[in-house]
Amino acid sequence: MKMKIVVIGANAAGAKAASKAKRTNPQADVTLVDRGNFISYGACGIPYYVSDTVADVHELMSTPVGVIRDALFFKKVKGVTVMTTTEVTGIDREANVVHLLETASSRSFSLPYDRLILATGSSPFVPAIDNVDLPNILTVKSIEDAELLKEKAVPGMSACIVGGGLIGLETAEALQQKGMRVTIVEMRDQLLPGVLDPEMAAIVEKQVRQQGVTVLTGSRVTGIGGTTAVETVRVGEKELAADLVVLAPGVTPNVGLARDAGLEIGVTGAIAVDARMCTSDPHIYACGDCCETNHLVTGQKVYVPLGSTANKQGRVAGTNAAGGDASFAGIIGTSILKVFSINAGKTGLTEAEARANGYRVETVLSPASDKAHFFPGAKPIALKIVAEQGTGRILGLQAVGEGAVDKRLDAAAAAITFKATAEQLSQLDLAYAPPYSAAMDNLIVAADILKNKLNGQARGITPMQVKKKLDEGDDFILLDVRSPAEHVEVDIAEAKLIPLGMLREKMEGLPKDKEIVTFCKISLRGYEAQKILESGGFTNVKFMDGGMQIWPYAVRNGHRHHDR
Ligand SMILES: Cc1cc2nc3c(=O)[nH]c(=O)nc-3n(C[C@H](O)[C@H](O)[C@H](O)COP(=O)(O)OP(=O)(O)OC[C@H]3O[C@@H](n4cnc5c(N)ncnc54)[C@H](O)[C@@H]3O)c2cc1C
Repeated sequence: MKMKIVVIGANAAGAKAASKAKRTNPQADVTLVDRGNFISYGACGIPYYVSDTVADVHELMSTPVGVIRDALFFKKVKGVTVMTTTEVTGIDREANVVHLLETASSRSFSLPYDRLILATGSSPFVPAIDNVDLPNILTVKSIEDAELLKEKAVPGMSACIVGGGLIGLETAEALQQKGMRVTIVEMRDQLLPGVLDPEMAAIVEKQVRQQGVTVLTGSRVTGIGGTTAVETVRVGEKELAADLVVLAPGVTPNVGLARDAGLEIGVTGAIAVDARMCTSDPHIYACGDCCETNHLVTGQKVYVPLGSTANKQGRVAGTNAAGGDASFAGIIGTSILKVFSINAGKTGLTEAEARANGYRVETVLSPASDKAHFFPGAKPIALKIVAEQGTGRILGLQAVGEGAVDKRLDAAAAAITFKATAEQLSQLDLAYAPPYSAAMDNLIVAADILKNKLNGQARGITPMQVKKKLDEGDDFILLDVRSPAEHVEVDIAEAKLIPLGMLREKMEGLPKDKEIVTFCKISLRGYEAQKILESGGFTNVKFMDGGMQIWPYAVRNGHRHHDR
């Protein structure tokens, strides 16, 4: 008897699982079912189709050599039978059958299975707001959504994007590139919550605003106005004109089928699976956005729906369902996006996540060029490393900037996965030539500063903490140790200038009983200044992490320094 494998959901995870199952067990009868019209498409590419970066929607569902991944392709190339516009309405675990409804014909029928794979994915979260079903209120998930968004992206019209996460930002860029006036409304106090800590998100926000996008953080959409289509959006006391609303506040796992079938749902609300992607029923596997996974740093169950993970899990579920043996250890939450000219991403834990998980953390902010500073086209990147005090274990990296952040994230992803310490990270033998990095890559520099902090030699303070002290009128000295020329170009109004080279002779004029915060362009000189002051008997000195380069607040330009 041929083994019957049924896969529910034919996008990233399901298509991968079905293909891998057939390769693992060529005798198996593999059926891939999806309620939608399109299968195996790259939802990740939708914003680029909307912005016309990708000209033809078929490119999102084609192989690298241009063959469309449709039912015929799966039948002929993969040996998998595909049923589209067919919804699985129930799972009978006693009889080992799934019940299906062919939506066009309303025909109901059943399919027997020996092994079942759930790859039902996720759905955009739709907030419970009156009028949310008015026309021109869209989500970003399917090919149909992509076509609608493209059609509604009319130059000069206003778009309101609900949610300042990865999908919200990518969509904001796409609509702005189409000539729309875009507002992002984000409930949290920062963009990209969960991906970046506030000071790193501030760099992204600055860039997004500079592109003409209005950003309303700490704001909630409380009402939608309009009769035949959306016309306005209420945000707190404000009423914004909106010809188009895009709902991107996140996604929720599609667990209805699994729950109704009595399968275990995990603590995150997604389907619980073991390392073999097996659910609480040994005949049923799950993979992709519908299930939860392990976080390799915290050991906790997490729900991080990403295409990268869906594909890997699909392979594992497909292998095991077909009689093979594979496992998926977990994730560390690595994610990345491009928004306008900024690249931003994280791997491992943010500082906020690390603290929420009970870690005592040390952090470092390190801005630098992505290539040798003299090499044409070198662009800035800022790194933030989060490490555990005591062990020095690297818990996370965030990287933001116009330059290449991806390779730093990927190197750190490997380091974090293999539980590297700051010492080990600082010794990684990274590839170097001027077109690719500095001789001391920013990741290595950041790890070195981190080591100095972990062993108590360097004491840092973040730009956010400095801003808070300034706002609260704290009695401290903010000491700029850059050159007068750098200071004139751009400075922080409250800062006192003593260039590093003059610090030894001028430090006697500084009060020893006050806290001093030193800084320079990137705070390497700031750190040196800390050491000079300490050698002169100052005991309460810190340097501002990251220096002017990642100071996201107001600055003065062209202000000439007078000795104060
Ligand atoms: C705009 C956008 C950008 C993204 N960018 C990135 C990125 O840059 N990097 C990244 O890693 N990830 C990204 N993602 C996330 C990524 O697309 C998802 O993680 C991935 O699609 C998950 O694949 P999946 O197969 O698990 O689920 P889904 O893509 O949700 O597919 C599930 C499928 O199951 C079908 N289905 C559900 N229930 C039933 C049923 N009862 N019967 C039949 N069929 C059913 C659905 O029709 C659907 O086709 C992005 C997502 C979006 C929307």
